[in-house]
Amino acid sequence: MLLTISTTYEPATDLGFLLHKNPQRHQGVELSFGTAHVFYPEASKARCTVAVLVAVDPVDLVRNRKGPTGGESSLGQYVNDRPYAASSHLSAAINKLFSTAMSGRCKERPELVDVAMSFEVWLPTLPVRGSADLLERLFEPLGYVVTSTPIPLDTTFPNWGPSRYCDVRLTTTTLLRDLLEQLLVLIPVLDDTKHYWVGPDEIDRLLRRGGEWLTGHPERELITKRYLRHDRALTNQALERLLDVEDIDEVESANDNVEEAVERTISLNDQRIIAVVEAIRNSGARRVLDLGCGSAKLMRALLADTHADKVVGVDVSYRSLEAGARRLHLDTMTPRQRDRVELLHGSLTYRDRRLEGFDAAAVVEVIEHLDPSRLESFERVVFEHAAPTVIVITTPNVEYNVRFDGLAPGTMRHPDHRFEWTRAEFAQWATGVAERRGYGVTFSGIGPDDPEVGSPTQMAVFTK
Ligand code: SAH
Repeated sequence: MLLTISTTYEPATDLGFLLHKNPQRHQGVELSFGTAHVFYPEASKARCTVAVLVAVDPVDLVRNRKGPTGGESSLGQYVNDRPYAASSHLSAAINKLFSTAMSGRCKERPELVDVAMSFEVWLPTLPVRGSADLLERLFEPLGYVVTSTPIPLDTTFPNWGPSRYCDVRLTTTTLLRDLLEQLLVLIPVLDDTKHYWVGPDEIDRLLRRGGEWLTGHPERELITKRYLRHDRALTNQALERLLDVEDIDEVESANDNVEEAVERTISLNDQRIIAVVEAIRNSGARRVLDLGCGSAKLMRALLADTHADKVVGVDVSYRSLEAGARRLHLDTMTPRQRDRVELLHGSLTYRDRRLEGFDAAAVVEVIEHLDPSRLESFERVVFEHAAPTVIVITTPNVEYNVRFDGLAPGTMRHPDHRFEWTRAEFAQWATGVAERRGYGVTFSGIGPDDPEVGSPTQMAVFTK
């Protein structure tokens, strides 16, 4: 079976860098069912074509009876289309040959991975099971132009009509990694069969390759169902997880538009997130730390609502980090999204080189959990060693506690709090830190501003 991908992006030979495959060399890779060959039929500055030819070993198909060819018909084991038709074998080859390209890495020319290029894909024998317009329904929403010619069942007897195979050409302008992921998922969906057993791992695979574009695809149900071989339980799980991602996006983009009037009706926790995200966004930071990130609520908002290319969360509690990984769906993020996030296990009272080289840090509702005797090491770790340009710290304003109905006089808001400061106490500490460490500092309140006792949360923004 054959697949070719051509580009006229100039210089077209950049395709070789992106695929991590040298246009001058033929390369053969062994797969469990045969050999995949990669070579370039043409490689000039104006046009470059890569070909993937998969030679399926027919003996292996007979030996591994699990696949669609090992069914009841014994003849079917020997006479079948698998060596010729683009199918899950081709997807497996794409996965094996181009996984680096799909993860969005390019060693020699990293800037190329984010360049949309014009591509022409040729699949000379693509099985299309289902309605005549299926190819268009799958590829057009993703921005492809589809040209497809049905292949006759038998060229000597044209009146036998067309077979289910088509000679297909797709043109589009997109990122190479998106193109590869979409082919990898949609080829076996069109064929509607797979050569291997489909288990729960396959959901992760689908969400990893399809995460972003699949969520918004009008045929996402059909794609998911067919990709998971019509297994109802797996399909439901996959769709739930896809929708979950969508819900989070909606909640977070809703936060974007939150105006002062709305803020009154939302929880203090949400208001803190909004205020901190805004401070970080205004600073223009690209590399952001969330120190004492807990279960990553703020991180989720930072990822959605700022232009940060890297958001790193640090917490001393491993269990919180696990909850954070689940909240962020780290295991099913697309490789591109995954590269933006990191969760680190560590303490803010020990110097940690992993925290160096960042533009901004958020330390939200954390300092009051530190023993006062540890504040000095915290100060050195964050302000002297990590030393990002902007540091945002929030902590409770203890004066406001009298306004909380459920809080007995003299008790703190959380049993693990080591202290809660008045506005004057916080200002005194923060001004001292700023002077010692060469930062400027401004203060504000988060939540309703009471004329007597101020806001429930106080925030300091330090800038170097
Ligand atoms: N910033 C989060 C969590 C606040 S709760 C939020 O606003 O939702 C305080 C967090 O600080 C907890 O997750 C706790 O595990 C973490 N923490 C406490 N001491 C720490 C230390 N020394 N180093 C790193 N994290 C610490």
